[in-house]
Amino acid sequence: MSPVERSTESNKVVLCDFDGTLTPFIVIDHLYKTFAQCGLEFAERWERGEISTMEEMESTFATVTASREEMESELAKLELVPGASNFISFCQERGYSFAIVSDGLQWYIEYILQQHGITDIKIIASQIYFKTNGFHFSYPWYNPEVPLRSTSKPTIIRHYQERGSRVAFIGDGTSDFEVVGVADSIYARRKLAEYCQSKGVPAIAFTDFFDLIAKWQEF
Ligand SMILES: [Mg+2]
Repeated sequence: MSPVERSTESNKVVLCDFDGTLTPFIVIDHLYKTFAQCGLEFAERWERGEISTMEEMESTFATVTASREEMESELAKLELVPGASNFISFCQERGYSFAIVSDGLQWYIEYILQQHGITDIKIIASQIYFKTNGFHFSYPWYNPEVPLRSTSKPTIIRHYQERGSRVAFIGDGTSDFEVVGVADSIYARRKLAEYCQSKGVPAIAFTDFFDLIAKWQEF
C-alpha cells in the first residue's frame, strides 16, 4: 500500500507525529493510565525497547474494560498544542501536503482533531476495532524495516521521496527516531531533539506551533 496519491500530491510534504507533538502529552499513555489495569507497565517496556508497539497496545488494551464511549468522553477533554490548527492552515496555504504519521491509533487522533474542528486530514496510523469480544488491531503501515514500531515512519517518508517529493518531519519522541537521516528536514522537541543532537543531525527545535511557524524554513 502506498500513502502517495500521485496526481494530487504536492512536491513538498509535511509529516507530523501526533502524540506529544500535536498534543501536549502522549494521548495513548493517558488512556493507559486512566483505563488500563496494567497502567504504563507495557508502555515503559516499549520505551526501553523490550517490546514492539503491537505488543504494547495489545497487552495493555487486554486489561481495559472501559467502553469506546467512556474513553471518548476522556479524549474530549484533551487539548492540542497551541497553534496546531494554525500550522495545518499554514501548510495548506503554502500548498504543502500535510499528513499525520503516528505509531498510535487513527481512532483517537481523528476523534481529538474533530473535537477541535479539524477534519479532512490524512492520518497514517494503526487501527483499533471495538468488538463485542474485545479490542482488535491492524497495522497497515507496519514494515519489518522497523520491527518495533506499528507504523514505519521511514518507509512512509521514502514512499514520498521516491516520487520526487521533499519531506519535512515534525516529532517529539522515540517512535520518531528512525526518521533521522531519512527526512529532508526535521523539527523536533524533547526526546527527538536530544536524539538529533546526539547523532549530529540538524533539527530545528520548537516549543509550540506558533514558534514552529516563526521558525519555518523552506525545504
Ligand atoms: Mg510522539
